[in-house]
Amino acid sequence: MIDVPVLIVGGGPVGLTASIYLSHFGIPSLLVERHPGTAVLPKARALNARTMEMYRQIGLERAIRGAGMPERFGHMVMWAESLAGAEIKRLEPARGAASQALSVTSNCGCSQDMLEPVLRERAEAAGAGRVRFGTQLVELQCHDTGVVARIRDGAGQEEEVSARYLIAADGAQSPIRQQLGIERDGQRDVYDSVNIHCRVDLTRWIDDRPAGLYLIEQPELRGTFMTINGTDRWGFLVTSLSHYGYTPEQFTPGFCTEVIRRAVGCQDLAVEVLGVGAWKASALVARQYRQGAVFLAGDAAHEMPPTGGFGLNTGVQDTQNLAWKLAAVLKGDAGEALLDTYDAERRPVGQAVTHSSLLNALSMGRTARQQEAVLPRKEFLNEVGLIFGAHYRSAAMVDDGSRPAVDDAVLQYVPSATPGCRAPHVPLTRDGRSLSTLDLFGREFVLLTGPHGMPWHEAAARLRPSLVGFVIGQHLQDENGRFLRSYGLAPGGAVLVRPDGYVGWRAADAVDDPAAELAEALDRALCRESFGGGA
Ligand SMILES: Cc1cc2nc3c(=O)[nH]c(=O)nc-3n(C[C@H](O)[C@H](O)[C@H](O)COP(=O)(O)OP(=O)(O)OC[C@H]3O[C@@H](n4cnc5c(N)ncnc54)[C@H](O)[C@@H]3O)c2cc1C
Repeated sequence: MIDVPVLIVGGGPVGLTASIYLSHFGIPSLLVERHPGTAVLPKARALNARTMEMYRQIGLERAIRGAGMPERFGHMVMWAESLAGAEIKRLEPARGAASQALSVTSNCGCSQDMLEPVLRERAEAAGAGRVRFGTQLVELQCHDTGVVARIRDGAGQEEEVSARYLIAADGAQSPIRQQLGIERDGQRDVYDSVNIHCRVDLTRWIDDRPAGLYLIEQPELRGTFMTINGTDRWGFLVTSLSHYGYTPEQFTPGFCTEVIRRAVGCQDLAVEVLGVGAWKASALVARQYRQGAVFLAGDAAHEMPPTGGFGLNTGVQDTQNLAWKLAAVLKGDAGEALLDTYDAERRPVGQAVTHSSLLNALSMGRTARQQEAVLPRKEFLNEVGLIFGAHYRSAAMVDDGSRPAVDDAVLQYVPSATPGCRAPHVPLTRDGRSLSTLDLFGREFVLLTGPHGMPWHEAAARLRPSLVGFVIGQHLQDENGRFLRSYGLAPGGAVLVRPDGYVGWRAADAVDDPAAELAEALDRALCRESFGGGA
């Protein structure tokens, strides 16, 4: 019997990221993935800046950018009748430009078949035997104190695994979610599609107009070239199949070649079909993200149309929220109730992005045959608010009565250190070297104070688990004078930032007894009965 604190089922991007995060927090886990290797089809490519902030935190930003498409393809998407034919529209997504100002990092186009090997290598490097591909979960029993699972490897060998917690990152069909009887709400089978992975040199049609997506609009065919390397490897998605009289079975290599030639507008183009996958876009969110010892993450929790590119992003962000909480509970630093805040914080996010992705798909006319090009609603690829603006409300957040000032939660993001919000990016310097506030977060709770915040800083040193404290203006320099304004603090104020980079508590100014206030704030942020603030 294998005994492990956390069992992860599913080795897609979400399961692999969960494994990396748990290791980052010092928690061993076992990940099982039934396939022998990582994704063979490109699927997701748009990693948003919030996701790249996470991957920066765990030291993966450079490797992912190295595996991604050339940066020049990341600033535009365009519509055309064919690549050789008339152009219909160009769109420069606002969320790309906005990210540059709002974050220390930026979006990255990295196709899923290139991303997953990077994640797998890092997950495996954390410890021998932590990641087992070619191994399937075949039986699961859930108890009050954990789970007992039976896993089977490719040779048919079976083993039992006992785990305190289980992360079900087993995809949209999630056998675990189904076994637990967790229902989903939303719209099923919004449209159908095939994803064609191909080798075809499109350089002569795209080199002077680099784009992340080339949407092709013809009366007989609607499809999208998805940029992978910007030269000879592409994804081509044919959408709304049934409305145009196609069936997935038709998409033999010969037919795929014909369709791609039609979309390019070149009848003798050399095309090599590398793979084809049929899928249906649905917009469905689980009614609960936790049941006992089991947590749903990624597509298992929320399945959404890829119109907007949020599925993978939302899923990997789930794991960041969950992993530090599991670690804190397993280490005895937090109350078990902290784990309930995963559902309270992440399910509303899953609902919002799924709904927005559905509205994008509907606005693009994906549910009917179109005679003319149908352009998307204004929110498409401009969802700055959805990317940065989640406002968590849960028992782990100490509400200070303030609210982020936005009128449109999809489009707008106003940096705010209101408890429940992502701690804003502010450029700082240390010994003359530039860094961001975001570079301070990621492993422990962090206490940031204004220049008169030394009493908070001294109080933090006596708490458990230990807080990392920085007095901005003493330990770090705020040369542009942005910190206090962005964080809503007077010079004597303080803010407590969780390992996931979200603000848990804020005191706008100095108080009489910082030790007592801080101890209470930490108890609440960790959902524990008071430890008395002592060491
Ligand atoms: C065409 C297309 C384009 C997309 N573009 C984007 C984009 O630009 N940006 C974005 O964010 N998202 C995008 N997405 C969505 C993204 O691909 C998914 O959200 C993402 O793959 C979900 O990851 P996951 O790890 O939750 O699930 P999956 O990738 O589905 O992985 C689940 C894994 O669990 C394994 N598994 C299941 N059951 C078991 C079992 N019993 N035992 C062991 N293993 C098991 C499966 O084999 C599978 O590998 C796109 C999707 C498509 C189809």
